[in-house]
Amino acid sequence: SLETGDRLKIAIQKSGRLHDDSMRLLKECGIDVSNGVNKLKSEASNFPLEVYFLRDDDIPQYVEDAVADIGFVGENVVYEKEKAVDVVEKLGFGKCRLSIAVRREEAYDKVASLNGKRIATSYPVLVKKFLDSNNITAEIHEISGSVEIAPGIGLADAICDLVSSGSTLFMNGLKESETILQSQAVLIKSKTLAPAKQLLLNKLLFRIQSVKKARNNKYVLLNAPNDNLQQIISLLPGMKSPTVLPLAEEGWSSVHSVISENEFWDIIEKLRDAGAQGILVVPIEKMII
Ligand code: ATP
Ligand code: MG
Repeated sequence: SLETGDRLKIAIQKSGRLHDDSMRLLKECGIDVSNGVNKLKSEASNFPLEVYFLRDDDIPQYVEDAVADIGFVGENVVYEKEKAVDVVEKLGFGKCRLSIAVRREEAYDKVASLNGKRIATSYPVLVKKFLDSNNITAEIHEISGSVEIAPGIGLADAICDLVSSGSTLFMNGLKESETILQSQAVLIKSKTLAPAKQLLLNKLLFRIQSVKKARNNKYVLLNAPNDNLQQIISLLPGMKSPTVLPLAEEGWSSVHSVISENEFWDIIEKLRDAGAQGILVVPIEKMII
């Protein structure tokens, strides 16, 4: 078996909102990691990778200290902790925003409304930066959890917390008034990665990028009347250009291509208008360009 020095050590969240997506990403990269209950450490069976399961707050510190070489963690945590680590790649999950919210009945119009207010948050560093850059003087009250109840119990006038749907704010009689950071999970790495580990990281990154591209694209197959073939082909960029095969039925062709999630519905409608029939859309597992 390999020496520890030959394995890349990754820190991921032990349990919580990032855990499942982190494990899934490794799996989609073809890396098998067993996830025993209450295990702090695990080893991949088919890639030189050692996995540490940690609280998300601790991940930047572990990576700064090179106890872990890399980590998957939210940008919100990375930028709040201000540790010396490099952000290498956005991972496309764990999306949320860090927002300031005030009582729903409050007459809030612009940032200046926060002057002189008490703001409860678990993100004092990011809130301070936001206030300073907007020339606001407000009191920051750091609390570690249940931030959303602070205004209701008279602890603060406003809060700054993570939001995804906004339902937690709504249930607590609050309204979102400023977004100070858009966040998602990112891959961070130690600033002192040995060359051998950097090579392993490059391998992992190559796989992550293939998985991300595949998620953002669909494979499309359709039947096109030959009369409209050129128009249909012009709607489909494909990786190089679409594949066109004759159908057994005279006057028709089968066209295969790849289209991105963003322009998906737009293109499908145009294809239908151009006479495409029997459109099949298939997920792509990996995509290497
Ligand atoms: P831990 O026990 O690891 O410290 P935690 O309770 O601090 O966990 P979670 O609530 O599991 O953290 O959230 C982890 C990360 O998930 C957040 O830091 C953020 O990056 C991301 N996230 C995505 N959506 C949300 C959301 N709606 N609320 C909170 N975090 C979210
Ligand atoms: Mg945490």
